[in-house]
Amino acid sequence: MISVTNLVKVYEGHVPVNALKSVSFEVRAGEFLSIMGPSGSGKSTLLHQLALLDTPTSGRIVLNETDVSGLSDKMKTDFRLRYLGYVFQEYALIPELDALENAFLPLMLLGFKRREYLRITREMMIRVGLADRLHHLISQLSGGEQQRVAIARALVNKSRILFADEPCANLDTENKGIVLRLLRKLCDELGQTILMVTHEPEQREFTDRVLYIRDGRLEKEELISDEVRANTLHHSYHTDISEPVEEISGGQATA
Ligand code: ADP
Repeated sequence: MISVTNLVKVYEGHVPVNALKSVSFEVRAGEFLSIMGPSGSGKSTLLHQLALLDTPTSGRIVLNETDVSGLSDKMKTDFRLRYLGYVFQEYALIPELDALENAFLPLMLLGFKRREYLRITREMMIRVGLADRLHHLISQLSGGEQQRVAIARALVNKSRILFADEPCANLDTENKGIVLRLLRKLCDELGQTILMVTHEPEQREFTDRVLYIRDGRLEKEELISDEVRANTLHHSYHTDISEPVEEISGGQATA
């Protein structure tokens, strides 16, 4: 799904910063990977190169069997819209629009018919546990709810890869638990591939594998065992926020 070979990023400037020094790794489809490391170690830089939000100095990135290193800017924009989803620590939602409108924007941009994008987006809003918040303005939602709108927006286009840069940084403990459980659920139920940067060690226990970055290099990796993950899921905040998605076709979803 993702293959990174000898990735290098130098920020040019008065004093050039060599933020990534020949990083190589692979991620399989459906894997939930966390990226950890001290502040300034290159985590966000790595995520930004992989998410096609920046251009690496050298190296090769293959996403979804496409060598993206050689794509033109226009092709990158198209690739992002079709195959990638983004969640950041600030939710980057549009305050004038309601929750549903924010979430369906990518499908509108892709030219879906209104009926179709409303159907898909409502399903996703139920999956993220916001069926009863569709027409709330962003300011009427809690931080955790806003982040779930952002997750729904990131996934309505059936993104092959979800990039999450410190998605829980601005959330309280309860909402951190809700968002991490949701990401885990999306991985387990939809086979969603997720790359998440975090600096909080306990968050890695929701994921399958951890890459540790130090000073622009891959330092080590750690596999999270099924037992640790199950234990973490068991002990973290435990309300199941979502209704089963099957219920939508039964007409139980409310707009
Ligand atoms: P992390 O996400 O692990 O905190 P970053 O990827 O943000 O680390 O930064 C890695 C290094 O690159 C740091 O030394 C940082 O100061 C530097 N850096 C990040 N972004 C830029 C930029 N736009 N221009 C110059 N240097 C940058």
